Amino acid sequence: MTKNKTADKPGKASRARAGDTRFGFQAEVARLLQIMVHSVYSEREIFLRELISNGADACDRLRYQAITSPELLTGDAEYSITLSVDAEAKTLSIADNGIGMSRAELIDNLGTIARSGTKAFLDAAEKKSGGDSLSAIGQFGVGFYSCFMVADRVEVLSRKAGSKSVHMWRSDGATGFELDKASRAQADTVPRGTVVTLHLKSDARDYLDEQELARIVRRYSDHIAFRIDFLSLKDGKEERRQLNSASALWTRARKDITEDQYKEFYRHAGGLFDAPALTIHYKAEGRHEYHVLLFVPAVAPFDLHDPSGKGRVRLYVRRVFITGDADILPAYLRFMRGVIDSEDIPLNISREMLQNNPVAAAIRKAVTNRVLSELKTLAEKDKDKFEDLWSNFGAVLKEGLYEDMERRDALFEIARFRTSNGDAWRALSDYVAGLKPGQTAIYYLAGESLEQLRGSPQLEGFAARGVEVLLLSDAVDNFWVTTALGFDGKPFQSITQGETDLSAIPLLETKEGEKGADEKIALEIAALAGKLKTLFADELSDVRLSVRLVGSPACLVAPAGGPDRGLGKILEQQSGKGGVRPVLEINPSHPLVQALAEAGKGKASADFDDLAWLLLDQARILEGAPPRNPAKFAQRMNKFVLGGLK
Ligand code: ADP
Repeated sequence: MTKNKTADKPGKASRARAGDTRFGFQAEVARLLQIMVHSVYSEREIFLRELISNGADACDRLRYQAITSPELLTGDAEYSITLSVDAEAKTLSIADNGIGMSRAELIDNLGTIARSGTKAFLDAAEKKSGGDSLSAIGQFGVGFYSCFMVADRVEVLSRKAGSKSVHMWRSDGATGFELDKASRAQADTVPRGTVVTLHLKSDARDYLDEQELARIVRRYSDHIAFRIDFLSLKDGKEERRQLNSASALWTRARKDITEDQYKEFYRHAGGLFDAPALTIHYKAEGRHEYHVLLFVPAVAPFDLHDPSGKGRVRLYVRRVFITGDADILPAYLRFMRGVIDSEDIPLNISREMLQNNPVAAAIRKAVTNRVLSELKTLAEKDKDKFEDLWSNFGAVLKEGLYEDMERRDALFEIARFRTSNGDAWRALSDYVAGLKPGQTAIYYLAGESLEQLRGSPQLEGFAARGVEVLLLSDAVDNFWVTTALGFDGKPFQSITQGETDLSAIPLLETKEGEKGADEKIALEIAALAGKLKTLFADELSDVRLSVRLVGSPACLVAPAGGPDRGLGKILEQQSGKGGVRPVLEINPSHPLVQALAEAGKGKASADFDDLAWLLLDQARILEGAPPRNPAKFAQRMNKFVLGGLK
């Protein structure tokens, strides 16, 4: 009996006190384990990949720390991961001589869930019932807890590097785990690192077989840069058989690497479980020497919009892992995964010093250029594949349009846009090739969603002239368009700002007699504009006749010189203050506007005011904003609707 035995309620995250020996799992771990324990996953052999991956990470981390603290390296000089079985006890052990875990780390790491991918797995698994989610598990990679697919009891014995004490974590994967100090005899079996021992379920005894283990290691873990050995006893003597090639994958020649090996490496290094959409693998020689093995994921990773914007490319120096989140690539390439391994950066560099290291800066520059040129090649060679990639990461890549002036043109070359001409992705070069006679600018409309943009009245005058308009619905669009100088000598121009001069671009078709009618009512409409200006003195900075509108009665635009309507609205929301008062443009040939002009003749009337407000409110609604006063809007609308029904 252990003293101070305290049991936390199952499902409740444990708060560790020094003397506790029993802990409940965090609620999410308990949910995850329930799925693991009660399901028969067809891909359950991936538990071995997950445990080996953890062991390799632990070796990487110790190797890095030992550069500055060599005293941590007591015992074995060579890093390795060792598999062994006990056929009688029906156990499989996975041992590593890496960094190990302290008591507190065992509690934190093996009782809670840190990775967002696991949370996504839980959500996906719970949506489907029973066996449906089985095939998905390999995609999510549930880490350590996957061992409960094959084991009904698991023991983790761990010694933090440099520490005298060893702890034993034990769990049946049900409600929680026990944690004790290891006995002397147990401690002696772990000179350094961690041993995970699995008591295999009766239907999982295949994993006692050396051949089967060798097959799984070759399939998923061959790329691991440390030795993975199978340890057996023959005539009382220990025998080790190496199961993997144990050479860093990125140092091997491309022709010697299979697609599957790339994929497994991507999963290990990227912490992702799809397949790479693009693989970039080369060795740079010359002033600086380094290996690059980078991947673009096929599916947008869960942390893509993590506000810290941290990159996830692993930096190695001469095969030694330095850090997993060095900002070795710019933030707008943060979706890339993989490894950069330098021959020239000093090994003892600290993560902080990396930022000022000239070699790191040179690598950053060259690799960024290379990635952009590879993306361009893909865009030229495989349109569909590139467009998928752009759908996933375009919004992130576009951050580079204002963060990386040096490569803005290169980014413009690969950028793809939705436009008012159909549903296809369009390149700026396509846009420029389709300019209409007399068109001197690249027109754009920015807003919150593509659907809303497509319904914008401001587009009408452009459609009538066959002029294409870029539809920008990513938040980042509002920022790069204002700083971009243009593309191919053509400036970007918002269609919701200033007075648009479309007169130089001919209409696709002109209706007979339209001109005469225009002149006839021009005076009345001009008078109407004056009246509206007085009525909306607090709301608008101007009212004028529109060339943008064809089918709609009115729209709002921004005055010239300031931000356009899209950016103006964002700035208003951010500052909480009212922004620049917009301009109301009215369509002189629309019957509603003409009726309003009629109602405005003579002395002031409530009908005129109400109709004018309806006109302004509908222009607001078309921009995705609410009417100024929703209750009054409803009253006014009902008044005219009922009037029409009588
Ligand atoms: P992940 O590896 O994605 O973080 P896991 O559930 O597999 O998720 O592991 C959780 C954490 O437990 C790891 O991040 C690591 O800190 C720790 N851990 C797991 N296995 C080991 C090990 N063999 N040696 C050292 N730390 C480990």
